[in-house]
Amino acid sequence: MSLHGKRIVLGVSGSIAAYKAVVLTRLLIKAGAEVRVLMTPAAAEFVSPLTFSTLSKQAVLTSVISEAGWNNHVELGLWADALLIAPATANTLARLARGICDNIITAVYLSARCPVFFAPAMDVDMWHHPATQANVARLQAYGNVLIPVESGELASGLSGAGRLAEPEHILARLEAHFDRGQDLAGVKLLVTAGPTYEALDPVRYLGNHATGKMGVAVAEAAAARGAEVLLLLGPSSVPVNERGITLVRVQTAREMHAAAVAAWPDREVAILAAAVADFRPATVATEKIKKGDEERLSIELVRNPDIAAELGRSKRPRQLLVGFAMETERPLEHGRGKLERKQLDFIVVNSLRESGAGFGHDTNKITILDHNKQREFELKSKAAVANDILDEVVARRSA
Ligand code: C5P
Repeated sequence: MSLHGKRIVLGVSGSIAAYKAVVLTRLLIKAGAEVRVLMTPAAAEFVSPLTFSTLSKQAVLTSVISEAGWNNHVELGLWADALLIAPATANTLARLARGICDNIITAVYLSARCPVFFAPAMDVDMWHHPATQANVARLQAYGNVLIPVESGELASGLSGAGRLAEPEHILARLEAHFDRGQDLAGVKLLVTAGPTYEALDPVRYLGNHATGKMGVAVAEAAAARGAEVLLLLGPSSVPVNERGITLVRVQTAREMHAAAVAAWPDREVAILAAAVADFRPATVATEKIKKGDEERLSIELVRNPDIAAELGRSKRPRQLLVGFAMETERPLEHGRGKLERKQLDFIVVNSLRESGAGFGHDTNKITILDHNKQREFELKSKAAVANDILDEVVARRSA
């Protein structure tokens, strides 16, 4: 049990998703953690503190000052191995980002010396509001770890981003933090992620459905394990926790190619998770293409450079090159072909046919292939998949 004996302070703020924090508490306890629960008064309106105190076998704190006296938030902040705020409402995010400490969660937060994880939950429009996004970015800049919201149906009846990450995913993120330690300390890693956009004219582009979630998860997991990560990210709206990551944003395959080729000689490992466009329009119109009376319009495409193949050609003996293959048919056969053609050390194959795997999902189901073996993994959160891939990297580097 990877959380065995770990001291977790769980801060629950006032969202309907507070009920999921009950499940989360249960999972943390089952994983061997000692849990102390803090609630805002609003959270206590959604779920009774008694529920949490029964599960955690510890008193639940709902205010800094209670009838029993002054709750020692400083002591709790020092006691914790991790502070996890889940759900973190828009209001709580704003308070944390500004250092306002008018309740037990925000007071412990300011006193905590341990890593802080926060899992937001709110309605889709509140999540996308620039104020919320700025608060999230500020909290990340302070070194706190965002556990991204998930998408789907929301309590308001709307649908979109803003759901609290599933308790299993939150648990996986914490386990990943405590499990691996710093087994990639100082390793110079290059990660490509996201789609590329190939311009047709000033308003249109050819793109693909990649979101960048898998590659960003790899970059964040590697940074948490001590790697020095250079992340080349195509157009993606996935938030990036930049702790330990140098983030370079690119648009086109050629921009990603130039940045990757320049960085590669100085890198020990490259993990290429980007969905790079194989072709781009032969010409980019300088003005918006106008429609006339034509029924058909053809666009001539020219080949883009293959970043993976080029890094494979210039690979030095101690460098490790990892590719991805996203397939709709015969995934293993196609994966094997790419492994050989691009001179990869191993390839992560995922099939678009598997439910819960592929574009936009928070989960993935992979097979790792190399020249002599293949290993299939269960459906897991992308954070957990990222750690499986990195485990393979670590195993090969020490072989
Ligand atoms: O050939 P395919 O695009 O399916 O190969 C996938 C692998 O190659 C991925 O690791 C992807 O990031 C990489 N790739 C690349 N440059 C390209 C095309 C793919 O690095 N132009």
